[in-house]
Amino acid sequence: MKSITRQKSLEQIERGLSDWARVFIVGCGTCTTATMTGGLEQVLEMKEQLEKMDKWVSGWTVIPVACDEMTAVSIEEHGRAIADAGCVLAMTCALGVHRLNQYLERPVVPALDTLFIGVEETPGCFREVCGQCGECVLGETAGICPVVTCHKGLVNGPCGGTNRGKCEVDKERDCAWSLIYARLKAQGRLQAMRNYQPPRNHHRMPRPRVTRLV
Ligand code: SF4
Ligand code: SF4
Repeated sequence: MKSITRQKSLEQIERGLSDWARVFIVGCGTCTTATMTGGLEQVLEMKEQLEKMDKWVSGWTVIPVACDEMTAVSIEEHGRAIADAGCVLAMTCALGVHRLNQYLERPVVPALDTLFIGVEETPGCFREVCGQCGECVLGETAGICPVVTCHKGLVNGPCGGTNRGKCEVDKERDCAWSLIYARLKAQGRLQAMRNYQPPRNHHRMPRPRVTRLV
């Protein structure tokens, strides 16, 4: 399971860095390495690009897991080079940006857009598997999330447009509810298709969502 990211355009990155001439770059050894958006290779490529923009790169690092507490240790190790920079360019997912902001006084500029939580289906192809809706129905949909797999996000499906297992919105894609039907059938649990999911209460947990261990 990975945080799936995409690199912002160089124009967007240049705009984000416009207030600073000196930059420190942080990549991540986990998700953004797997998605090739913020691993070692991309960090070194970014360094070259920034130098072409006439930025001075005071240093760079690839933190093993940018979103965890060990980030504090990596930051400390590179304290001098970070202090020499006006800002930090984060080639991490939004969680990494959040974590870096916790430990740094310097501004943190994201180089990536965080798209979704997904799995690598085939090499280099990532598929969204959960939209973190807070009211999980996977137990009744044979493990296939209708919120992110159905084009309309229907938790009671299918809609009237499904045709020979394909989706009416995109005929190249399988209908999520046909996939759910097939898997439930294989499990001998087709009756689950009849379970009605009541309308969702999107106000139940206002943002920012917080949970506490009890
Ligand atoms: S229903 Fe889908 S989006 Fe909601 S929590 Fe479950 S897997 Fe995630
Ligand atoms: S055809 Fe299937 S996947 Fe497409 S919108 Fe309708 S229920 Fe969802």
